[in-house]
Amino acid sequence: MSILCRVDDKHVPLYRVMWVAATPHFCGEEDCLREGSYEVRLEQDESLWATTAERDNLVEMLESWQGGLGPADEQF
Ligand SMILES: [Zn+2]
Repeated sequence: MSILCRVDDKHVPLYRVMWVAATPHFCGEEDCLREGSYEVRLEQDESLWATTAERDNLVEMLESWQGGLGPADEQF
């Protein structure tokens, strides 16, 4: 199976995902562009913002993912 998941305009390798928000973002700021989106936290303090459908898909992929870095293996 693919280890890439589409979030926003990016294909994200599953092994880079630290956590996925369980509830939609709300900070109360009037001009917030992220309200209603789900935060997807990546390594190195990067965040992406997923729609509900993207979040559901990502969580499903993470749950069935067996781990491993895939063919383009990176060593840390
Ligand atoms: Zn906000």
